[in-house]
Amino acid sequence: MMPNSDPHLPINCTADGLEQAIAPSYSDKPEEACGVFGLYAPGEDVAKLTYFGLYALQHRGQESAGIATFEGEQVHLHKEMGLVSQVFNESILQNMPGTIAVGHTRYSTTGSSRVVNAQPAVVDTRLGALALAHNGNLVNTTELREQLLQTETQLLTTTDSEMIAHAIAEAVNAGSGWVEGAIEAFHRCQGAFSLVIGTPEGLIGARDPNGIRPLVIGTLPGPSADEPPRYVLSSETCGLDIIGADYLRDVEPGELVWITDAGLSSFRWAAPATRKLCIFEMIYFARPDSVMSEESLYSYRLRLGRQLAIESPADVDLIMGVPDSGVPAAIGFSQESGISYAEGLIKNRYVGRTFIQPTQTMRESGIRMKLNPLKDVLNGKRILIVDDSIVRGTTSRKIVKALRDAGATEVHMRISSPPVTHPCFYGIDTDSQDQLIAATKSIEEIAAQIGVDSLAYLSWEGMLKATGEDPESFCSACFTGDYPVPVPELVKRSKLILEKTAPAPAPV
Ligand code: SF4
Repeated sequence: MMPNSDPHLPINCTADGLEQAIAPSYSDKPEEACGVFGLYAPGEDVAKLTYFGLYALQHRGQESAGIATFEGEQVHLHKEMGLVSQVFNESILQNMPGTIAVGHTRYSTTGSSRVVNAQPAVVDTRLGALALAHNGNLVNTTELREQLLQTETQLLTTTDSEMIAHAIAEAVNAGSGWVEGAIEAFHRCQGAFSLVIGTPEGLIGARDPNGIRPLVIGTLPGPSADEPPRYVLSSETCGLDIIGADYLRDVEPGELVWITDAGLSSFRWAAPATRKLCIFEMIYFARPDSVMSEESLYSYRLRLGRQLAIESPADVDLIMGVPDSGVPAAIGFSQESGISYAEGLIKNRYVGRTFIQPTQTMRESGIRMKLNPLKDVLNGKRILIVDDSIVRGTTSRKIVKALRDAGATEVHMRISSPPVTHPCFYGIDTDSQDQLIAATKSIEEIAAQIGVDSLAYLSWEGMLKATGEDPESFCSACFTGDYPVPVPELVKRSKLILEKTAPAPAPV
């Protein structure tokens, strides 16, 4: 079964069933990766701090959530399908004592959406259990699975994350310590992995050699001034902010950090490679208040909108953004163009995940359970609406129709990223290539399909220029097909229309 494309839909609702979905999707975006969180904090309520960390990372995955705490050798694990606030309550958290915790919020990029696949993955070893939370996707799972099965490893799930946990366990059971065992296992893994791993002795944080998915280190002040700080690991800085931790630094690509009562030690397990941080983290996935490269993503997204206004201006009365992810770029567009910004769509923030079927009339109302147009703002106006991306185009069409129904005389659309023409193999669900509207249609055809008066995308060069960083330090393969970690042919075939791959743009 295909996973949902809307976090607020029930788990068993297929993508094909979106039109009949109970809370109709207003967003056919690529699906987020996962959120990982961990901390080493003797004396603190580690389960509760992890709960709040996951709460801040909820946007990265809404299918399942889990926490494992280590009380010496004993592991307390709770994981379920659902949002963080649905999976945990006070009494569950109170029964999870410990000094180390690992948390995960999941969107299923590998393996189906079932509780058995929820994380952390807990595996026993000769040194005690390990609990692993993974953000990313391996591209060599077939090979790794075969290797593990040859050694009679019992794989309980269909996830690559469990395979990494078993690869570590194999190395540890063969005589390695935790750090050596993890490094041996990482050398068997190819693809994207940002990992938080709890053990009875300490906490591990690690990133793949390209650092495709983010992972940051923070510190919580010690209980007294002469005691050392406690360390926190989080997919994004918003997970640190919520518990009052200070950002220390990123886990570097190809680095493993080992956090124990002796403090934090760093191991470079892979030769430094060029960082290839997923550019979609910058454009859309990560929260706008998260900081990457010493700047909030809100500021970067404003610059994307400014660049878009320079590249593709329009003669309109109002600029608006698709809530919430299109809003910063819309404000940037407004600032650059001097055209007023207005809110024309109000998001219902409390629709949530519901298992109650809507009525037929509600289904026909399209997006309005989630986004309600403001008729008095839109009536008689020429509107330019900014969104961060178009993947399948189904939602864009509904939004445009809603704006016209509310009285907009013209609807123009601007997208603050280039056309998505290739699928992702590194932990983001962008569907197969034939479902990506820009892979099979020209911009004019897309404009006609979604019903806009004009449509323009930000250039690939403009997107990278707005980062203010070395363009080579980002993965932008879903816009170019230039995959930084080679994808095996068998894996490629599952998603790519191989004969139709577009040439990569020239480097900026
Ligand atoms: S292919 Fe696209 S979504 Fe996947 S890691 Fe690269 S930039 Fe991100």
